Amino acid sequence: MKRMFMLSVVAVTLLFTQTAFAELTKIADNVYSYVGGKDAAPANSFAANAGIVIGRDGVLVVDTLISAKEGKRFLDDIRKVTNKQIKYVVNTHTHLDHALGNCVFTRIGAAVISHTADRKLMERVGADTLKNIGNYGLKPEEMTGTEIALPSLYFSDRLTIDLGDETVELIRVAPSHTEGSVIVSVPAKKLLFSGDILFTDFHPFLADGNFSGWVKTLDELMAMDVEKIIPGHGPLSGKKDLMAMKEYLELFDTKARELAAKEMDADAIAAELKQILPKRSMADWMIGYNVKSRYLSK
Ligand SMILES: [Zn+2]
Repeated sequence: MKRMFMLSVVAVTLLFTQTAFAELTKIADNVYSYVGGKDAAPANSFAANAGIVIGRDGVLVVDTLISAKEGKRFLDDIRKVTNKQIKYVVNTHTHLDHALGNCVFTRIGAAVISHTADRKLMERVGADTLKNIGNYGLKPEEMTGTEIALPSLYFSDRLTIDLGDETVELIRVAPSHTEGSVIVSVPAKKLLFSGDILFTDFHPFLADGNFSGWVKTLDELMAMDVEKIIPGHGPLSGKKDLMAMKEYLELFDTKARELAAKEMDADAIAAELKQILPKRSMADWMIGYNVKSRYLSK
């Protein structure tokens, strides 16, 4: 009996391990994405979402995960859904977990697109990030084959891409999660990929953020005719999650400033914030990281 129990524990553990990788989920006709991954390990791209829009003339990829290995996993999953040519890759922004898989797609002829400011960011820090990958909790062997593939097309405000029977709009409202964060809107489906402008049920990464621009961007997304939002991290979302994100940002900023002014240390501030902030099931450790990066004078 005890042995049976042990065996079933092993079986359940194996099952869990095998399903820890999210699968590409159909979000709407011609739109698929990873959503709501539960394994936020660095080698699993911190559970970043990535997806595709399929048109008559080809495929547009939204974000590429953290490494060549992760990009390849994504490409293999795309090929289970469509054999059409992958023409474009959009980087919603160029943080490593959304853009270091670019090389997998440029090797098969895709053009990478981003906002000008995030193209510059990747040009400035991409090579160093890869060289110092241990700082992000990654091992060199997890990055085998990964190369920096800079966007070859970049824009400042808005870009429309016609995939044949699907039109995709790339829109940058204001500096937000990064200076050049953009959203990928599929107007006919009332759907958008928000990149890391939205984290749902996942503590957000705030270090490179512009809070006033971020709030403005969230307000503009709330005013759009949109029903489904694929966040940068977390499950398929909607407008109530945009509202929750805005409240989180404002609360975090106000309280972190107050606590930092009392000259508390980072761990104490993070512990206090954890009590005050709305509960999110993923990435608690991000709170302390954000405090250190934004609110404590060095
Ligand atoms: Zn990010």
